[in-house]
Amino acid sequence: MFENIIGQEEIVRTLRSELPQGRFPRSSLFFGPPYAGKLSTALEAARALTCARGSAEWSCGCPSCGMQKELLHPHTVLLGPRYADIEIAACADALMRSRKPATLFLFLRAVRKLTRRFDPSILDTDDARLKGVQEKVARIEEALAECAPGKALPSERELGDILERIISAAAPVAEQVRGDSITIGQVRRLAGWAHLTASGSRKVAVIENADRMQDSARNALLKLLEEPPEAVHLILLSSRRAAITPTILSRLRPYPFAQRSAAEEREVMEKIFRSETPGFESLRAFFLAWREINPEKLSQLARRFIDMVQAAEPAAGDIGAQMAEILPERKAQRDRSSRETGSAFLEELMARFRDLLRGGRVNVDTLEQWNQAVREAHARLETYNMNPSSILEALFYRMRDASRQQGDASRQQGDASRQQGDASRQQGDGARADNERRVSAGERARQEAGR
Ligand SMILES: [Zn+2]
Repeated sequence: MFENIIGQEEIVRTLRSELPQGRFPRSSLFFGPPYAGKLSTALEAARALTCARGSAEWSCGCPSCGMQKELLHPHTVLLGPRYADIEIAACADALMRSRKPATLFLFLRAVRKLTRRFDPSILDTDDARLKGVQEKVARIEEALAECAPGKALPSERELGDILERIISAAAPVAEQVRGDSITIGQVRRLAGWAHLTASGSRKVAVIENADRMQDSARNALLKLLEEPPEAVHLILLSSRRAAITPTILSRLRPYPFAQRSAAEEREVMEKIFRSETPGFESLRAFFLAWREINPEKLSQLARRFIDMVQAAEPAAGDIGAQMAEILPERKAQRDRSSRETGSAFLEELMARFRDLLRGGRVNVDTLEQWNQAVREAHARLETYNMNPSSILEALFYRMRDASRQQGDASRQQGDASRQQGDASRQQGDGARADNERRVSAGERARQEAGR
């Protein structure tokens, strides 16, 4: 088990020892930076939990492992927001370049990470936005059947054709799970599913971006976590652990995922996504390119944003212009584009903060306030679906206020140390006077001795 997880040796070691001994908890939190392999690891844990033979080697031929590998196991469900279409496009690209069973699996799984979110057992049928989604999902599945594993892969042209159909059918479906937070309806459906007894098998629910949940959904989840049904495992995933409420956190066993090293990320790009394009410095850059976001431009804008925050008096009107650049009106008719860019921009800001701290260009207190402000902006953007440019503008002023307060504080400290300096200079004068007195006392003593 976990043969295909790149990096994360410590987590893998822990899970390899816990799972076979039945020590894997009923409720857990896989947390860590984006692109650390949290979902792949959670899905592998689900496979290990349901494997009929228990050993769950990747080559295991038991029916349960077969279904898990294709993400078709009825006792494993997936929910939570995700940028599913980016991964589908990247995997389709990989499959076209390398028409092999491994890349076919990769593609298949990328598509099912989307379609399984609309599994009838957890679909919130009261949600009007989801009307008709099951027919769309059925169409995607039909197209997928044409390139199912085990069959000979279609010719290059045919395959290209099938993938094209899947990608365009998946686009509107992916839209449904992109930015939205988890609703109370979904959590209720999940609870219903969890309480249904499954004959002899364990059930696993994987909840991605579990920090993006509305209050009502969070309370419903808390109830489920307080009294989890027998044989059900809830695996929550998050790259923003600080945004999860303490009451929920206290019920989860934490599994911290480390940032993958540059070499490991390269390995993921080359081995998993068969990327032949050199020049992506990270997985993040790789996926940003799929989102049509230029990582260099994003990083430049983040640096400028911080410079303006730190500048004493930014020219009025500049901020609006900055916002317009950060949020290109490329697909103005669809606000998801700007939300996505806004979200990528906030991630980029966080990355720049770490550089600033290393370079000593900002103090720890300011940085802590900035981090908090960005986390809240993220929540407003993704959970409450607010307008990105007003969120970024509010963030700008909040960061500038924090920076100025700290500036004032350090100026006051400066004044205080100047005063201390004066005091010690005076003390210095005092000491010199003392010395002179001692010298003159010595001289007097010598003069007296000389007599
Ligand atoms: Zn098995």
